[in-house]
Amino acid sequence: MQQANEKDKFAAERQAMVRVQLKKRDITDPAVLRVMADVPREKFIPAECLDGAYFDGPLPIGCGQTISQPYIVALMTQELKVDKNSEVLEIGTGSGYQTAILAKLAKEVYTIERIEHLALNAQRILAEMNITNVKFHTGDGTIGWPFDSFDFTQDKSAQGRPEQRQFDRIIITAATPQMPKPLLEQLKTGGIAVVPLGADYVQELVVIEKTVDGLKTKSVCGCRFVKLIGKFGYSE
Ligand code: SAM
Repeated sequence: MQQANEKDKFAAERQAMVRVQLKKRDITDPAVLRVMADVPREKFIPAECLDGAYFDGPLPIGCGQTISQPYIVALMTQELKVDKNSEVLEIGTGSGYQTAILAKLAKEVYTIERIEHLALNAQRILAEMNITNVKFHTGDGTIGWPFDSFDFTQDKSAQGRPEQRQFDRIIITAATPQMPKPLLEQLKTGGIAVVPLGADYVQELVVIEKTVDGLKTKSVCGCRFVKLIGKFGYSE
């Protein structure tokens, strides 16, 4: 149980993070700033790193993986342009922090993590936070959201046909040499994907818009993520 003064300390650090790390950079979307000020990052941080919960950088979360820098989480969310109608596919649940931020803005978040321990931990934290609009899957996210997780009984438009689910938004939170083909296929026309593309040490954060005339891409900034490991990403 968190002590009251510890809670206050984190609340103050969270406000300072929004003011200094986000607003003083280029995070201007009021909805993004609101959820970043609302979601307690300390819940997603391992006990041994808790003092640095609002550190302006990534932190280890175990299994050789990291929780992303708050600024990068905010920037990717801002570029994704999520609203209450959006169905979002996230590849790389990690700690679940980005998942929670997206869940507060979107209609539904579908998130895939390849490491079961991380997936279960994230699922537990989001349940504790009473976040109910997230579906979890453990496996290789480069091949997309699996057919067998599609609940046809809930989606009258599918009329029982085995169609692949498509998403309004896709976010990949690990570095990939190229946008995995199955994910491009699962992006709706008119949809937006935000992806760190490039070599395994330094990448470019890229926004991909799928239009009726083809793909439009925009480079946002340089970035550095752990590798996306899978059939259409890096090999292990
Ligand atoms: N956004 C996360 C957060 O806020 O904690 C950080 C994600 S971390 C930088 C990248 C995650 O992608 C890791 O947890 C890693 O295990 C996961 N990952 C790597 N390859 C994957 C794949 N093919 N499918 C699903 N998850 C993958």
